[in-house]
Amino acid sequence: MNLILMGAPGAGKGTQAEIISEKFQIPAISTGEILRASIKAGTELGKTAKSYIDKGDLVPDDVVIGIIKEHLSSDACKNGFILDGFPRSVAQAEALETLGVKIDAVLTIEVEDERIVARMGGRRVCPACGASYHVSYNPPAKEGICDKCFAELIIRSDDAAETVRNRLVTYHNQTEPLKAFYAERGLLITVEGQEELDDTTRLVSEALAKI
Ligand code: ADP
Ligand code: ZN
Repeated sequence: MNLILMGAPGAGKGTQAEIISEKFQIPAISTGEILRASIKAGTELGKTAKSYIDKGDLVPDDVVIGIIKEHLSSDACKNGFILDGFPRSVAQAEALETLGVKIDAVLTIEVEDERIVARMGGRRVCPACGASYHVSYNPPAKEGICDKCFAELIIRSDDAAETVRNRLVTYHNQTEPLKAFYAERGLLITVEGQEELDDTTRLVSEALAKI
């Protein structure tokens, strides 16, 4: 199964990607996470990416397309994969088609902007393994500590309220047109993001069962 997960920042696509990845034993590839790892490692790629990410803008298409090319060609992806946060522009989606990558479904998780802004303040992420949590909707077993690797959780720098607003603008302008792009190809599946994580997970699982 080759799957794309779409949704506004904070809609919960990263969390669902992790859940689907475990359930189907296929890797989840998050461009956001790969970019954050490059920033942490201080590479050239990281330096380029940071200026865009901190503003809530998209990192240039050629940069992320390069990352995706490299990952999809790896052996780990031969039985399927989940793309979390890619493509994020029509140009990126076209690049994926040009590469000849076959996609089985594009799942979009819909959450209203108001709710996203309200939710983002409670998001916490693990700097070591990338797992994400929410203080109310998806808390770790021990406050402030990652369930998976026990690192101390942090607030992402681009989760600041002003940056979140710009990320939403970027999403509506550049990423949302992809819904029409994939609907035309008969691949789009829409799931309404729920208040409770488990409820969203159930809806996603029901939607995937129909593919
Ligand atoms: P979220 O979905 O919550 O915004 P991500 O981790 O997916 O978080 O992305 C964080 C940031 O990384 C984005 O705001 C953007 O700057 C950059 N980014 C991630 N994926 C892409 C992509 N496919 N194209 C361009 N920029 C990207
Ligand atoms: Zn962790």
